[in-house]
Amino acid sequence: MTTGVYEKGKQYKSEVPPTWCAGCGDFGLLNAFMNSLADQEINVNNTALISGIGCSSRFPFFIKTYGFHGVHGRALPIATGVKLANPKLEVVAFGGDGDGFAIGGGHVPHTCRRNMDLTYILMDNSIYGLTKGQMSPTTSMGMATNTTPYGAPDNPMNPLAYVLTYGATFVAQAFSGNPKQMRQLITKAMQHRGFSYLNVISPCPTFNKKDTFDHYKDHTEELPADHDTSDKFGAIKKALEREEHGIIHTGVFYEDAEKPTYLDKVLETRAAAGGCENPDMAKIINAYKP
Ligand code: SF4
Ligand code: MG
Repeated sequence: MTTGVYEKGKQYKSEVPPTWCAGCGDFGLLNAFMNSLADQEINVNNTALISGIGCSSRFPFFIKTYGFHGVHGRALPIATGVKLANPKLEVVAFGGDGDGFAIGGGHVPHTCRRNMDLTYILMDNSIYGLTKGQMSPTTSMGMATNTTPYGAPDNPMNPLAYVLTYGATFVAQAFSGNPKQMRQLITKAMQHRGFSYLNVISPCPTFNKKDTFDHYKDHTEELPADHDTSDKFGAIKKALEREEHGIIHTGVFYEDAEKPTYLDKVLETRAAAGGCENPDMAKIINAYKP
């Protein structure tokens, strides 16, 4: 029986070998995530990783924590339920651009506006990988895919501008080609109290021949040192520079550690109503440490 805390990132690896293609950007996140767990001295026995469906949603298999591989697009409602049932758990949800913003797109704004105390890490490769190369919500306009052989006709959505608008209280972007920065951003996202969204640019060399590692190396740029992370409108403007100027920023766009979380608000309402006689609710109240 171990204590559940490990010194080195690779000790957090489960016995299940990753099934991703050689060169997949998701490997970069896996390594950075395990290193971040070691940096934070995370206990695998108090941690649950929740996912939907897709290449990236296989993530929980590969780590020694508890894990739940859900159904397509439903990582966030499942993660919300897990956190509410046991607020002491560290809960991290994983998914891809198709899983999170197409079939699961209805869940993202509500998790943002509730300020659920969760971390959501989305591996964005601008394509459906597992189902072999269909257009996704973040596919570039004009790109040929298996479902758009003459070029994608839709404007791609901007995940960062979207979650900022709906009220996520921590918003950051990392790139698989910069594992050092990604490791630090994962730690910051998990340490934040409230809903954290980390967009990870994670190229799919098998089905997306346009948005490659080389393409992103040429177009990503760390946010300037004087970027004000408390300025939401400034953060939205930086997010929109992707469309306006072709600059894809990485780093922390926005952070608000003061906004009450969903559980804070529920507990406040309960207290205002004169407390709670329900023993199950009392258990939750006692477990939630602000
Ligand atoms: Fe990664 Fe793409 Fe292969 Fe899926 S299909 S494992 S996203 S490289
Ligand atoms: Mg995808």
